[in-house]
Amino acid sequence: MYTKVYTSPPDWLSLSRPQPEGQVVIVRRECQVALNIKLYEWPALSGKLLIKWKGLVIPSTANVKTEESRSDEDVLHVSVRVFGADTEREYKSVCDACSKREGKKKGNPTLVDFHAASNVIKASEDGLAQVKFKFSCYPKHQNSNESAYL
Ligand SMILES: [Zn+2]
Repeated sequence: MYTKVYTSPPDWLSLSRPQPEGQVVIVRRECQVALNIKLYEWPALSGKLLIKWKGLVIPSTANVKTEESRSDEDVLHVSVRVFGADTEREYKSVCDACSKREGKKKGNPTLVDFHAASNVIKASEDGLAQVKFKFSCYPKHQNSNESAYL
């Protein structure tokens, strides 16, 4: 596992939707977030050759329709980590109320619910892949002092 932490969005990552208002992105629970990832601009891992990644693998959450077990060599595994803007605490699960609501769908409810036909997202010819997801719970549910997610 290789982890790289960025304090500002790197060149290969951009927000497609929703459009930010200033520095803040306002997302309602039913609102879908879409991130564009340019796979060909992904930097080479230290000591490794630059790889032309073919696609992304996302976690199989409730709104990922099918799961492909076949794993290509040249795919990147994506995960989204959620932090509270005020407490800087990391959130990994939904609150009890949202858990009951979301629990009617398949599987355990996850805070970040990806939306895709398959857990493998193939990149387009120019190396672009789009990841779509929704948040299943609001910052205020997690902590009454929390105004936003990071
Ligand atoms: Zn909630």
